Amino acid sequence: MLKGTGVSAGVGLGKALVLKEQELDWSGVRFAGETAEKQRLAAAAAAVSAKLDAMAAAMAEQVGAHAAEILAGQSMMLADPFMQGQMEEKIAGGATAEAAVDEVCQSFMQMFGAMEDELMRQRATDIGDLRARLLKTLLGIEEADLANAPAGSVLVARDFTPSMTVGIRRENVAGIITEGGGTTSHSAILARALEIPAVLGVPGALAAIATGQAIAMDGERGHVYVEPDERTRKDYEARKAEFEAQRQLLKEYMEKPTVTAEGRPVALYANIGSPKDAEAALEKGAEGVGLFRTEFLFMDRAELPTEEEQLAAYRQVATLFAGKEVVIRTLDVGGDKAIPYLHMEREENPFLGHRAIRYCLDEPETYLVQLRALLRAGADHKNVKIMLPLVTGVEELRAAKALLERAKQQLAAEGLPYDAAAQVGVMIETPAAALAADILAGEAAFFSIGTNDLTQYTLAVDRGNPAVAKLYTPFHPAVLRSIRGVIEAGRAAHIPVGMCGEAAADPALIPLLLAWGLDEFSVSPSAVLATRRIISLWSTADAAFAAGEAMKLSATESIVGCLESLKKR
Ligand code: PEP
Ligand code: MG
Repeated sequence: MLKGTGVSAGVGLGKALVLKEQELDWSGVRFAGETAEKQRLAAAAAAVSAKLDAMAAAMAEQVGAHAAEILAGQSMMLADPFMQGQMEEKIAGGATAEAAVDEVCQSFMQMFGAMEDELMRQRATDIGDLRARLLKTLLGIEEADLANAPAGSVLVARDFTPSMTVGIRRENVAGIITEGGGTTSHSAILARALEIPAVLGVPGALAAIATGQAIAMDGERGHVYVEPDERTRKDYEARKAEFEAQRQLLKEYMEKPTVTAEGRPVALYANIGSPKDAEAALEKGAEGVGLFRTEFLFMDRAELPTEEEQLAAYRQVATLFAGKEVVIRTLDVGGDKAIPYLHMEREENPFLGHRAIRYCLDEPETYLVQLRALLRAGADHKNVKIMLPLVTGVEELRAAKALLERAKQQLAAEGLPYDAAAQVGVMIETPAAALAADILAGEAAFFSIGTNDLTQYTLAVDRGNPAVAKLYTPFHPAVLRSIRGVIEAGRAAHIPVGMCGEAAADPALIPLLLAWGLDEFSVSPSAVLATRRIISLWSTADAAFAAGEAMKLSATESIVGCLESLKKR
């Protein structure tokens, strides 16, 4: 396997077409006199400029204005009087038009290539592209016409230049592999605009790949297989199909609001573990963050993250989602989530042990650091909501609120900005919280149902133990009644109820959640659009019918069968 930087997502399968660089040898050209050379230069510049403009127009039509600007930008560089003046000066000094183009372009390429800024360095590639175009025109060399590349070609080149994009169609080019290039390069932008998977910066690609060889490539991970074996090919075919189905979904549902079939809006948020996930969530159409699992900030390190470190991460997400809600869960340590430097006691039953809110309330100084960071993170956009994990009773909520008050007093005394009105809600993920939801609803600003834990605790089935995995299901009537009860309790108290467990994205469960009036679905970023689509297929009336039928049944298997048969696809 060869590895590079995946810059345009998608899976490419096809046959390699290795693009050899053409010799642009002008050493045999003789000087034809100043006037004649200037005329040759002007004619070549006009021809290249006309071609670039035509390419830009075609590109604008095919993939949009932004990609076209890159080509139009080259045309503008060409028209730059400074660059033209320099070329004419060389000719006046006795250089051929070819020599003038080559020398002036090379000096600009060197200048831009040495700059720190990636965008400036990108200019060097663009000028190199321009140089090649001008020289080819002057020397009468035909452009390689990629429009005639056989269908399913995977282009392999030293660099993927903007002008190579002419003629490239998704139908004939299955992928692009280059030895050079980076993520912000124009080639990457163009590849993404054309929706062609691309892996740039693959060392030795030209030597390792020959025209006609079979290629399987992943434009996200940056993997390239030459002559892949049967298993790899099958795997890549399956992933390609899945990726394309997802992309289709993305196109259709990206811009749509999340509404039921009759137009009732519901909130569709994403679960994240880091600021990086938050970007992915936004790109996948999330309308907010329904669960930020902060424990990942505490893992894979040697000591607690400081208040400033935590603040930076929370604030980044709050800023990214300005104007939208961001629900951040306080440290959910213990159970299956170990943080070695906390030196927590080994326990007989870690899932029933000293974890999450229990641990935090016993370590108030540690917890205060996180609470202060959370309050501060909401200062600018007032969109951070604080959520407590593994709550079993109102005492925990009160104790956490008391600590929050202390944090606010400290921040006020220190003159640090914070959101004094930050809401505090609880995760409903223990049977105790579900059964006492009406009591908790009196003091919590919102609920979010954590079905991953609620299912394990309600059914007494370890969520990670394969021996009992078949017993682990949210479709057990006990879990369903529990979920229904929590939503009813939230509604009665007029507080919003969300769900952030995996079940929120389950197409068989969604109608029940819609029927009972769940306000917010929070799912993994990759499930956002599929969930939006499923929600759009159900009217509240149809959902109520499905829920009514399912809840009449006694056995989990019958419930699953009933919901499968009613499922909308
Ligand atoms: C849950 O328990 O449903 C949940 C969302 O939290 P986690 O999976 O992080 O325990
Ligand atoms: Mg949980």
